[in-house]
Amino acid sequence: MRTEVFKFGGSSVGSLEKIRHVAELIKEQKNNIDNLVVVVSAMQGKTDELLDMAKFFTETPQERELDLLLSSGERISSSLLAIALDSLECRAISMTGRQIGMKTDNTHTRARIKSIRTDKIWQNLKKGNVVVVAGFQGIDEYGDVTTLGRGGSDTSAVAIAAALEADRCVIYTDVAGVYTADPRIVKNASILSEISYDEMMELASLGAKVLQIRSVEMAKRFNVDVVVKSTFEPNLPGTVVSKEGDMENKVVSGVTGDKNQARITLLGVADKPGVAASIFKKLADGKIVVDMIVQNISDKGLTDISFTVPADEIERAKQIISPLAEELNISEIKADKDVAKVSVVGVGMRNHYGVASDMFNVLAGEGINIIAITTSEIKISCLIEERYFELALRALHNKFMGEK
Ligand code: ASP
Ligand code: MG
Repeated sequence: MRTEVFKFGGSSVGSLEKIRHVAELIKEQKNNIDNLVVVVSAMQGKTDELLDMAKFFTETPQERELDLLLSSGERISSSLLAIALDSLECRAISMTGRQIGMKTDNTHTRARIKSIRTDKIWQNLKKGNVVVVAGFQGIDEYGDVTTLGRGGSDTSAVAIAAALEADRCVIYTDVAGVYTADPRIVKNASILSEISYDEMMELASLGAKVLQIRSVEMAKRFNVDVVVKSTFEPNLPGTVVSKEGDMENKVVSGVTGDKNQARITLLGVADKPGVAASIFKKLADGKIVVDMIVQNISDKGLTDISFTVPADEIERAKQIISPLAEELNISEIKADKDVAKVSVVGVGMRNHYGVASDMFNVLAGEGINIIAITTSEIKISCLIEERYFELALRALHNKFMGEK
């Protein structure tokens, strides 16, 4: 018995014609799949439209009410798809988050899934239906509707695939898979045939456009094989996201970056135990995510510390640190938004040496200065001046992903 979960994103069900196309695709695929559950997003633009409607009244709508409102987008697309399938004589039934018993916590607008009652889904599958589920939504312990955060239908789909122990979860979208780099910047970027969960999470800036990162975490936890494919070119193989990825053949799987970085430098900080602890404790208390940290060699008991934060948090970070200036003897706090991070990612790095030096060489070859470096087992990132961002990505892609 073959069980699969398909998920169609907003652009795949963006119009009635597209919904019919999706219905045809499902009808054809159903011949090879015994049990098929289809999770849908709202029609393209619908969620934003509903949000705007709420904001007509207030900038801060109550989150409980927002959730009920936003969940209606997926009700529309799921019921329309079931109707479209039925019109093609493919038996289908639509179900809401409540009807599949998608239980979540009560953090409205970004709820986390707790459990799914699979018996209702199975009942409908056993009757020969394609079960069309409204993604993005659940209910909390009070029976109130919750939503899973923007892009949350991916997480609905993976969670349902895990709960049904499906053979795989196919995410149908408007791109043909996960790229080795952002194709708008790197013209010869290509589609990866395989990628591991860990790489996918590290490549968030590439992957997040395709998959909500939480869905990848969930897929990793429950070992769900995920395939990312194009709705409009369904015969292309797409990208398989799984445990191993492509360990054998590639050292680097992708090149990515983040322009939304800012650097804060604290000059003349006392070089004694506990100083870094108190600075970063304050930032953590302020829920500021610090990424790269560099501390210079001290001179006469004073040192400089630099770190990066998301660019839109820079003012808040400065405000948090300023009160510490006197106590820690900080002579100056400098902030700089014109920096960007570029990264190379690959599980193959675990067993290869020389990737870091190759990366530094490529950047040096382009005359790009490295401001800070961080590494993990499968990723190396360098902070550079933002104006070199595109150049660096292209050069790195060329070195690591170019024709071998
Ligand atoms: N409709 C929701 C959104 O636009 C959820 C989703 O598409 O996955 O974020
Ligand atoms: Mg999406």
